[in-house]
Amino acid sequence: MNKLQEILDYNKLFVETKEYDKYITSKEPNKKLVILSCMDTRLTELLPKALNLKNGDVKLIKNAGASIMHPFGSIVRSIVVAVYEYQADEVLVIGHHGCGMSNLNVDKIIEKAVQRGISLEVITTLCNAGIDIRKWLHGFNSVEESIKESVELIKNHPLIPKDIKVHGLIIDPGTGKLEVVLNGYEVI
Ligand SMILES: [Zn+2]
Repeated sequence: MNKLQEILDYNKLFVETKEYDKYITSKEPNKKLVILSCMDTRLTELLPKALNLKNGDVKLIKNAGASIMHPFGSIVRSIVVAVYEYQADEVLVIGHHGCGMSNLNVDKIIEKAVQRGISLEVITTLCNAGIDIRKWLHGFNSVEESIKESVELIKNHPLIPKDIKVHGLIIDPGTGKLEVVLNGYEVI
C-alpha cells in the first residue's frame, strides 16, 4: 500500500470513530505563545510533551534549523499574525543539539541534486540571477549563535511590539531537556 493510501485509510477511521473529540479547541493559543522550532523528526512528539503543550496551547512554527532566513519572510510573517491576530505575547525560539542545519555540507547537497537530475546549468543560471544557493542553503555553525540571532531579529523587528517577550532555548532531542540561552524577562 502506498503512503498516501495508508494515511487516507487511517484518516477515515479516525473521523468515523470521532477520535478528534479530545483535540477540539480554538484558533487562539491558550498559552498566548508562539514557538519557532526545527522540523527535526525527533521533536515531532517530544517537544510538545517535554513542554507540556496540548492541542490549542501554542502557535507552532517549524522549519529546517528553527532559523529566520529573512526579516520579511514567512516565519516573521507567521509571528506577526500570531501576535496581532491571536494575542500571542511571548515567543520561544527553540533550537536543538545535533541539528541537521548545523555545519551543513552545501556542496554535497548540490552534488546530490545534480545526481537526481538537476542540471548544473540550472544552478549556474540561478547563481547568475543573483540567487546565492550556497548562502541560501547554508545552515549555521553554532546553534547558540543562530538562536541569539533569531531572538534579536524578532525583538528588533519594526513590526513586533516592544512588550513581546522573546526567549531563546536549546532542547535536547533525546531527553527533551531545555537549556535557556536567552531569557526574555531578563533582557532589556
Ligand atoms: Zn534541527
